[in-house]
Amino acid sequence: MPTIVNAVAATAPDQPLTRTTITRRDVGPHDVRIDIKFAGVCHSDIHTARGEWGPVPYPLVVGHEIAGIVAEVGAEVTRYAVGDRVGVGCMVNSCGECEQCAKGLEQYCLRGNIQTYAGVDADGTITQGGYSQQVVVTEDFVVRIPDGIDLDVAAPLLCAGITTYSPLRHWGAGRGRKVAVVGMGGLGHMAVKLAHAMGAEVTVLSQSLKKQEDGLRLGADDYYATSDPATFERLANTFDLIINTVSAPIDLNAHLSLLAVDGAMVNVGAPPQPLPVQVFSLIPSRRTFAGSAIGSIAETQEMLDFCAEHGVGAEIELITADQVDQAWERVLASDVRYRFVIDVASLA
Ligand code: NAP
Ligand code: ZN
Repeated sequence: MPTIVNAVAATAPDQPLTRTTITRRDVGPHDVRIDIKFAGVCHSDIHTARGEWGPVPYPLVVGHEIAGIVAEVGAEVTRYAVGDRVGVGCMVNSCGECEQCAKGLEQYCLRGNIQTYAGVDADGTITQGGYSQQVVVTEDFVVRIPDGIDLDVAAPLLCAGITTYSPLRHWGAGRGRKVAVVGMGGLGHMAVKLAHAMGAEVTVLSQSLKKQEDGLRLGADDYYATSDPATFERLANTFDLIINTVSAPIDLNAHLSLLAVDGAMVNVGAPPQPLPVQVFSLIPSRRTFAGSAIGSIAETQEMLDFCAEHGVGAEIELITADQVDQAWERVLASDVRYRFVIDVASLA
């Protein structure tokens, strides 16, 4: 039987979230039902719920950093059992047949993967995310949270962790490589921890020096304020890789000037506005400007195992389901230290 569970939903771009109930489908042969314990708050939840990325199928339950415990498995599920510690990130399915899915890159599914919320599911219903008590997901889109990581600090790894791990790996962050992270919020603080754990030399480029002590504690070697024009003179032509996690437009050309020859700047931040790039920020030093979306399911598992091995989790502030509106305001004010995580027990 479908199950009715408690959730908090966005109902309009400018209204507080409201408590509601949603229906989770019956567990099919390949499905896993998860009792959600913790749900991370990603800036993408805000962009989406407020209609910044396009029309929203209200009412909508957002949340794509899900950590919980398996409560039920379908008859043909092979990889998970009741009681397992698991996670779900930004996707809950993909076509499984296209060239990208065949390569195991479901995040780049040519027919479009099915997002954890605001996506259209196989049965035509709108997917509803993690700010809720349970979720039902095909086992192929579930990952295992290693025993070494607590579920609350694991939740943000499902989006913030993988979204930074994937480009760091793809562009070869590691020993002898200079990596800069722009913006030290949810994604940015994970980028610092992960790049440091990979052995890279890490610099934070933040709006101010307010969080410098934290940045150095999390593994950065250097920390500079982008509000100080001297930063751009001092660091010109320095970095092999820059990960831009900023949720708003920044001066890309100024940041591109910080790349060494053959360096790459990868945008994971996803502001809705177009960002102008001058070709002459790229041509004279054969620089690359790129984008990157989350990571595949296999890479998400690899990232979780890497985090367990290196003792990496998110820095979190635990909140109740009734505190999400306030938390969103603090995220928008760059006052997040460094990921809000909803204690889903508060939805009971
Ligand atoms: P967040 O916690 O709000 O962090 C963003 C950080 O950017 C802030 O903490 C702040 O850091 C900096 N910042 C904010 N406004 C700024 C401004 N006007 N100018 C300069 N810096 C500013 O957000 P998040 O959850 O990490 O997400 C970041 C972005 O990544 C969002 O756009 C989100 O939608 C996107 N995202 C993309 C993917 C993907 O697959 N590509 C996945 C997840 C999220 P400082 O205070 O240190 O400057
Ligand atoms: Zn996210």
